[in-house]
Formats: sequence, C-alpha cells, structure tokens
Amino acid sequence: MAMNTNNPQGSNIFPHHIKIDHLGGADCVTGSCHLVRFCPETDKTVNILVDCGSTYGDDPELPFDQFPVSPDQIDYLFLTHAHIDHIGRVPDLIDAGFSGEIICTHATKALLSPMLHDALSFSNRTDKDINRIEKRIDDLSWGFELYETFTLKNGITFKLKNAGHILGSCFILFTFPDTEANVSIRVIFSGDLGSTDTPILPDPDIPDSCDLLIMESTYGDRLHPDRKSRVENLRRLLDKALADNGIVYIPAFALGRTQELLYELDRIGVKVPVFVDSPLGLKITKIYSELDAFWDKEAKGLKDRGDHPLDFRGLYGVNSYRDHKQLLDIKGPAIIIAGSGMCTGGRIVDHLKHGLEAPLNDIFFVGYQAKGTPGRKMIEKKVPVKAGIHMLTAYSAHADQQMLVDWFKSMPVPPKEFRLIHGEDKARKELYMLLESLSPKSCNLSPGS
Ligand SMILES: [Zn+2]
Repeated sequence: MAMNTNNPQGSNIFPHHIKIDHLGGADCVTGSCHLVRFCPETDKTVNILVDCGSTYGDDPELPFDQFPVSPDQIDYLFLTHAHIDHIGRVPDLIDAGFSGEIICTHATKALLSPMLHDALSFSNRTDKDINRIEKRIDDLSWGFELYETFTLKNGITFKLKNAGHILGSCFILFTFPDTEANVSIRVIFSGDLGSTDTPILPDPDIPDSCDLLIMESTYGDRLHPDRKSRVENLRRLLDKALADNGIVYIPAFALGRTQELLYELDRIGVKVPVFVDSPLGLKITKIYSELDAFWDKEAKGLKDRGDHPLDFRGLYGVNSYRDHKQLLDIKGPAIIIAGSGMCTGGRIVDHLKHGLEAPLNDIFFVGYQAKGTPGRKMIEKKVPVKAGIHMLTAYSAHADQQMLVDWFKSMPVPPKEFRLIHGEDKARKELYMLLESLSPKSCNLSPGS
C-alpha cells in the first residue's frame, strides 16, 4: 500500500501530462488552494487553480512567487464556495497578475462580493482600491449552472454539482482528454462537503465515477449527532436560559451558520425578540432568501405554504452602528446573533463587554472555537464570566466521518485513486483507513501527504 503518493506522477493511472499540486489546505483546514497543470511544459499548457483561500492561525500560506506557475499564467480559477478560507486570497492573486476567468456557481458569484468586501474592509486597502478590486473580480467571475458540462481550453470539460455545505457550494468534475491513449482522465475536487439534513440546503449530490478523487476530510474522525436531537437541545437550552428573562448571545459566522440558526429558531417558534446584529449576516441572509432555487424541498415547501423559512415575527435586523449601540442596552428576554463566530472581533465583542457580567445572561457557542480565541478562553474558564456558557457542538457545515464514507460509497464505481486533503493528520488517517477498505485492492491510494 502506498501511503505517500501526493504526487500522482508516480501512480499507475496518472499520465504525465496532468500535474496536480496542493498549494494550501493539503493537511490543514484553511487556505485551500490546488493547482492542476494540463500538458505542462508545452506551449499548450492550461493552468487551473481550484480555490485560493486565506489561512488562519498557524496554517501555512505559500507566497505567490513560490507557486509552480506565476499568477499571470493561470487560465482559470474555480471557486468551490464563498467561505473566506477558499476565496480570501483572490484579491491578492489578481494584484499578483491573475487575469483569467473565475468560475463558480451563480450563488457563489452572488456571495463573493459581500464576503470579499467585508474581508477587504479589514485590510490596509483604501476605499478606492477596494472598489477597483471588487470591480475587477466582478468582471472576471462567471456563475455557471449545476449539472451541465462546459468546455474549457484544449478540450478540458467541467461539471459542477451541489456539495450541500453552504449556499452555492459545489464539487467539480474535470475531464482531461488524452488523445494518445484515447481515454479521458476524470478528476473530482470535492471542495467542502456538507452534512446531510442541513437546514435549507439539499444534501450533497452523488458524485460521478472518476479516476482521481481529491476529497476533504475535516471531520474524518468524528460523528455529529443528528439534526433532530440538535434542535431539541437548542430548544431545551433556550427555554432554560430565557426563563429568567436574560439575554442569550450567539456568536455566529455570517455565512451559513447565521441562516441555519434563523431557520431552526423559526421552526422552534421562539417567542422572544431575535436580533441579527451583523450587516454582513443580513446581506447574506437576503441572498439566501432570494436564491430559493438552491433550497431543499423542506424549505421550498414552507415558503409555498406562506411561511418564509428565514423570517418570523420578532426577528429584527440591526444594520447601522447607531442601532447596534442602542441594542447594547436592551433588556431581556432576547436572543442576539452577532459576529465574529469566535469572538475575535466584530459586534459580538461589544455585546459581551456589556452582557457577560450579568448572571441572567447566557452565551451559546454554536461553532468551532480555535485555540487561543476569546470564545475558547471563555469555554475553558480562563476569563471570569458570570453569564452561563453553553456549547452546542452539533452544529457543523461539514459532513462527518460516516457521511464522508457514504458519499465515497455512493460513487457508481470507486475511484482508481483518492487523496485526502483539508483535514488534520488524525482525521485524514482515520478516514483513509476506512476508504481504503472500500477501494479496489490493486489501486495506489493517497492519503494526501
Ligand atoms: Zn467551507
């Protein structure tokens, strides 16, 4: 068994005219960036980048001048979805010379601008420069339909399918022609795969068969509780926390988690005011609301019956800074959803300064809290807090181990080779062992590194 064949040139199935390098997110969960070179070292080389994301914490970021090809030689940039760890470096890539086409789904195209605008507003760029780069991204990017096959240069084709991770997320099937052997090589990049039964979104599509599968493994070593018990838990905790008329603070990421929470709070039928104190969260909720073609059956059914799944009596959007200031003095009972999800900045920080010294109040953590972040410190009781602290660990935008295995198994024929990326060591290794047992024994499998 080959445990370390990150470079497919050494494998049996891979012809020498396709090279794939993992430039970011190979063995960690941020900074996704992968380069495919078709016919390298010829004048017909086509260079395709899949994602170009920011890194967080200690995850490594490869400078553009160390890329195997310079940004101005990249023909296409595919974006699997609009999370910053998949798109965050796009502005810098353009400044470094990239002028190819940016290809994504229509929903990702709609989310690109608000997500990057927010990220750029925290950079050193001037407003004029931000406008320039946003216009450039808008000019270069194109939204594509799911399930249709499109042709790129040199006979390469691609097809996007729903990945069920956040609105617009997709996985990509590339087909590279091989005229010599008269067979095509099919490669799938999974992007981030969502949990089954995620609110609003359909489950990830079944992947087509392929020769090489490049697959995420974020939760390759973990199982999530089901959605029913998660909603029950949220209901139970809210009843308890709000019984004394306190405020429940929920730090949440603007894209994905905020909309999931609104959906669940609507289903639970909360009777207290709910405030979304996040201009970005509100912008994105509006996009989620408008793009109902991307919803699952349950959400569409609710809307058809006159119950908009992301809107309910008692839900308030807080846009302006002045209104945010006023909200700081509000009396409970109330629920306040604000960013950032790990309390590293944003409006949630102001709320916590005001509210965490009151024993009536509670804070619900619904997302991963990285080491060293204020959220993690509160959970670890490293900062004195009088309010109640609760962890709702079941929330995840990523498929768990069983879902990843099931997705792999749903492929009509197992891939000839697979590589696991986008996961910590332990997650990749555990998942690798499980997937290996499902694959043809003659194959040369790759765990990613
Ligand atoms: Zn993601």
